[in-house]
Amino acid sequence: MSFIQKLFGAILPQRLSQAMEAESRAWRVECSCGFTRSVWELGGIRYKASGEPRWMMVCPQCGQRSAHRVYHKP
Ligand SMILES: [Zn+2]
Repeated sequence: MSFIQKLFGAILPQRLSQAMEAESRAWRVECSCGFTRSVWELGGIRYKASGEPRWMMVCPQCGQRSAHRVYHKP
């Protein structure tokens, strides 16, 4: 877990931090090559959010820096 994930896990009630983790895992970050990870796997948190933003990052599969699509997939 990343620092921010540990921090939220420490300050939030367990029920809430589990809900936050579950939702962060349901948010997918997809490269144009098709490689997909969850926001949680990336060390991030996305909770009570909406919309489909684009995140600029380097993809570990194709090695390209590109705009990754962020979408919710429960
Ligand atoms: Zn890629």
